Amino acid sequence: MNKRAFLKKSLLVSAGITLAPSMAMAESMPDKSKSSGSIFFGDPIFELPKLPYGYNAFPETIDPLTMEIHYTKHHKAYTDNLNKALQEGNIKGKSIEDIMRMDNLSPAIRNNGGGYYNHNLYWDILTPGGTMSDHFKNKITADFGSTEALMKELSDAGAKRFGSGWAWLCQDKDGKLFVSSTPNQDNPLMKVAERAGNPILGIDVWEHAYYLKYQNRRADYLQNILKIINWEKVAAKMV
Ligand code: MN
Repeated sequence: MNKRAFLKKSLLVSAGITLAPSMAMAESMPDKSKSSGSIFFGDPIFELPKLPYGYNAFPETIDPLTMEIHYTKHHKAYTDNLNKALQEGNIKGKSIEDIMRMDNLSPAIRNNGGGYYNHNLYWDILTPGGTMSDHFKNKITADFGSTEALMKELSDAGAKRFGSGWAWLCQDKDGKLFVSSTPNQDNPLMKVAERAGNPILGIDVWEHAYYLKYQNRRADYLQNILKIINWEKVAAKMV
């Protein structure tokens, strides 16, 4: 996605959603004067998307301080470092998905591009209390046996990932859904992924995502996060 398309998507994502005042203040609107398609030295190519809710959206699952640090420090650092690495590599005009699928990613683009893409997806698919449509439930039942089986696969994928990484729900090239896990900031779009697919849900299992509230209890974090998935948005990401 180019910058303009990305901004458009960010605006669409934000549309109709009430931000907490602190969030509305924290993020300014994109500067239209710079959306001519040219990339100037020093301009960000990718922007940190707005959170679709405030830091206190689901305190029983993610405490506000963790969300604030995770978004304003970690996600922002991946964004800034991705832009720096793209400038150094002279990579322009590609969507983040296309960049993720490139051969032989440099370590800086692999780590920071992955961090950027993965966190965009993570924040986008959370909501306070999401429900699954019958249509999507049928798809889950067809591919996993039951929604309970999907939940178990997702929490196992997150719990068994040694060290830092992600658990994913993906769609393969035949349209079938599967669960996988990647280390660090890798994701299933990358050539290095054990199983390639189009991610429609990503769960961050880095300690920075849960340690303040859960300390070493990653399984409890996983159990709770599966209660705040925006299944409507996840389903809409299927192709
Ligand atoms: Mn993270």
